[in-house]
Amino acid sequence: MASAFGHAALGATLGKLLLPNQLHRRYWLAAACCAALPDLDALGYKLGVPYASLWGHRGITHSLLAAALVAALGLASRLLSQPDRRPPVGRLALLLFLATASHGLLDAMTTGGLGVAFFSPWDQERYFLGLRPIQVSPIGIKAFFSSQGLRVMASECLWIGVPCLLALALQRLGHRNEADQRPYA
Ligand SMILES: [Zn+2]
Repeated sequence: MASAFGHAALGATLGKLLLPNQLHRRYWLAAACCAALPDLDALGYKLGVPYASLWGHRGITHSLLAAALVAALGLASRLLSQPDRRPPVGRLALLLFLATASHGLLDAMTTGGLGVAFFSPWDQERYFLGLRPIQVSPIGIKAFFSSQGLRVMASECLWIGVPCLLALALQRLGHRNEADQRPYA
C-alpha cells in the first residue's frame, strides 16, 4: 500500500478540485477518509485472512465496486449539511467514487505486494499499472516509523504530494484568470 497519509492527501486534493467552494470543506475531509478507507482490510491481514483471497489485502475493498458502494452510502452525509450548503448530488457521488477508487490506483503504482483486484468479485486477478514509482509502505504503524517509513514518505512527497500541489496551483490560477476576465460593473 501507499501510506494512509499519501492516500488521504490525494483524496483531499480531489475534494478541493471537485468541490472548490469553502462551504464544502467538510467534504474534502470526507474524501480524504474515503481514500484511506480500503486499507481497513489490513485488519483481516493481521487476523490471518490470506493476502491473495477475495477478502485479502488489496482484494475486494480495493475494487471499483467497493468505491461505487462507498460513494452511494456516502451520499447520505449530504443530509448532515444545511440545505443551502449541500453540494450537487452528482458531483459529490463522483468525488466519493474517485477518492475511494484513487486508493487502488496508488497501490497499483507501488513497488511491492500483490497487485490490486480492481474488478473483484468478478475477476480476482491482481493488477499493477505500468508505472510503479511509489515505495510500498509497510503494513502496521510500528513498521512505518522506521527508516523504510522515511523512504516511503520521501517517495510519496515526490509522486503524490508534488502532483497534488501542482493541480491545486493550476486550479487557483484558473480561478484567478476567470475573475480577471469578469467585466467590471
Ligand atoms: Zn491499499
